[in-house]
Amino acid sequence: MLIATLLLLTSTLQPEAIGGYAGGCLKNGMALPLTGPGYQVIRTKRLRYYGHPELIHYLEGLASQTKMAGLPDLYIADLAMARGGPFSSGHRSHQTGLDADIWFRMANRPISRWEQDAPKEWALIDEPSYRTLPGRFGPQQLTLLRLAAQSPDVTRIFINPVLKAEVCKRAPSEPWVQKLRPWVGHYSHFHVRLRCPIGSPDCLPQAPIPPGNGCGAELASWLKDKPQLPKTSTIYSKLPQLPGRCEG
Ligand SMILES: [Zn+2]
Repeated sequence: MLIATLLLLTSTLQPEAIGGYAGGCLKNGMALPLTGPGYQVIRTKRLRYYGHPELIHYLEGLASQTKMAGLPDLYIADLAMARGGPFSSGHRSHQTGLDADIWFRMANRPISRWEQDAPKEWALIDEPSYRTLPGRFGPQQLTLLRLAAQSPDVTRIFINPVLKAEVCKRAPSEPWVQKLRPWVGHYSHFHVRLRCPIGSPDCLPQAPIPPGNGCGAELASWLKDKPQLPKTSTIYSKLPQLPGRCEG
């Protein structure tokens, strides 16, 4: 009886990512502390700083690595809501507690309360010309991407194609470059995605990424015409069906 109760208790407390990255939820997630060595969470009023414990540990580990590498504090933006699921605004994924947005801009000082709620976006790309703004993608940003992508838990990093082209110029033969996936938007941040954790049997993995560093024809096709962000109304007109386990 006692063993059965204990088993039930452990299974009810087991953290789980359920469903797909863009149609799922999070069970027994945890909050990322709002500040820690090497990072600060921004826009905390949105309450999107929850994740699967593997994501929380990954972010804390990354921030300590970047700090050791001499980088200023990271700005951590959206993770997931406490129980995952679709956001009311913004991006479609981030639903299972395995996605996180990290800014390229870094903070070399503690930020004020006001700044934390409304930090200034710091685009790295000039939209009309679709080129990098001078001086904004430097060695620190490259180091940050390298440390973020090298973890075996990371399956993909979504990044603007213009910035992937910068990485392809500077570090084309480094194996982690393969994980950088061009995507629309992302002028000021990149988006890290972790693989399905062990103990999440209903987590839906994404197809493996194609072989090669993606610096050739694939990237060229993204750069040919500036990709347009879909209008918000089209993003939200088709909300995904959530897995049954996410109800209630
Ligand atoms: Zn994102």
